[in-house]
Amino acid sequence: MQGRNTGEVSVDIQQMLEFDRKHIWHPYTSINNPLPVYPVESATGVRIRLTDGRELIDGMASWWSVIHGYGHPVLIRALQEQAARLCHVMFGGLTHEPAVELARLLVNLTPVGLNRVFFCDSGSVAVEVAMKMAIQYWQAQGKPGKNRFLTVRSGYHGDTFHAMSVCDPVTGMHHIFAGNLPRYVFADRPEVGFHDPWDERDIASFAELIERRHADLCAVILEPIVQGAGGMRFYHPEYLRQVRALCDRYDVLLIADEIATGFGRSGRLFACEHADISPDIICLGKALTGGAMTLAAVLATERIGDGISGGDPGVFMHGPTFMANPLACRVAVASVTLLLASDWRRKVLDIERRLREGLAPCKEMAHVRDVRVLGAIGVVELHEAVTMERIQAAFVRRGVWVRPFGRLVYLMPSYCMEAADLAALTTAVVAVVAGEAENEY
Ligand SMILES: *Cc1c(COP(=O)(O)O)cnc(C)c1O
Repeated sequence: MQGRNTGEVSVDIQQMLEFDRKHIWHPYTSINNPLPVYPVESATGVRIRLTDGRELIDGMASWWSVIHGYGHPVLIRALQEQAARLCHVMFGGLTHEPAVELARLLVNLTPVGLNRVFFCDSGSVAVEVAMKMAIQYWQAQGKPGKNRFLTVRSGYHGDTFHAMSVCDPVTGMHHIFAGNLPRYVFADRPEVGFHDPWDERDIASFAELIERRHADLCAVILEPIVQGAGGMRFYHPEYLRQVRALCDRYDVLLIADEIATGFGRSGRLFACEHADISPDIICLGKALTGGAMTLAAVLATERIGDGISGGDPGVFMHGPTFMANPLACRVAVASVTLLLASDWRRKVLDIERRLREGLAPCKEMAHVRDVRVLGAIGVVELHEAVTMERIQAAFVRRGVWVRPFGRLVYLMPSYCMEAADLAALTTAVVAVVAGEAENEY
């Protein structure tokens, strides 16, 4: 299957692609009429190598996760050493050093007070776990009526049912699954941008809803500062500060979904730090293992832990088969340690400056609605949705991997990306977005 740099597709690869096309679902695609997929041979650093030998500079970090680049030797060594010792063992009645070491790291790093750790398999499951914790907490307090959730519009929390129920009701999947989804409470989305002057009216809808509904609210769940897949929007830290204050005032728990923002992406280790707040429960995922394995963690306060344990049935009702998988925990320890030992803050701020400069020409284009950057996240929002197949091919032709959705063309590179590669990425985005006006590249 070794490709030469000829652009030719070998017979083996063609057969593989045919089988893929016929039998395998990719994310959010038709099984009968799928868009083309590009076969990957390997990936190193910030480059994805296709089977035909072409190399693409990766602008997506595989959906926020690959923060150190692909194939980092420290992560590979951690995986190999752990694999030789223990790939997996059940977590019921047993424990192991990778889980304990990772929990110790996370308790120390996350906002103050979060020191009760639950490991699970993926981000969506972490959101389910966090929501179950909030429900069980109030049940144990003798207040089973406090079982509704409040969130803000334009959010994204994952694809499982309860996660879906707090995704944006319009851009989320509510219309398809309405009959099966619990109906929760949605405040207006935050409108004041991260860099804009604060306007007190922004919190009015949220404040009104929490005041009116708090008796049946168990928790607020939201993405701190960065709304990811629900619209790639950056909101004002004062909004989050006031959410925390209102949750305290009305005795409602606060769940921060930092699955996308955790581990430096927004310029702070955790996005909650922009507002200097601690949630009652935090969800972590994506970059937790540096993109090497799937793993997520939910951290809660002692109050939540005590509350759940003190009531009936006295235990937290969740326990996945692959809970705290040792391979995943070990590589997470390696990734987080690597991050902390690096100059990540300077690198992310450097990427922020270069994204801002590199994407600026898009601001002048009539079909572009907004260009915004925060940390190592750069977003070009168009007025109209892009045509995925065409725009995807245009990016690949230019030697970059950028995967837009809807009206959004965005970049979230690995923190290790050098200036020249980043310039190639932003140049490609400017050119392809410019071409989008004429529908030709
Ligand atoms: C990606 C994401 C999730 C879901 O994580 P999965 O691992 O895809 O299940 C939840 N919340 C946020 C904010 C995310 O970005």
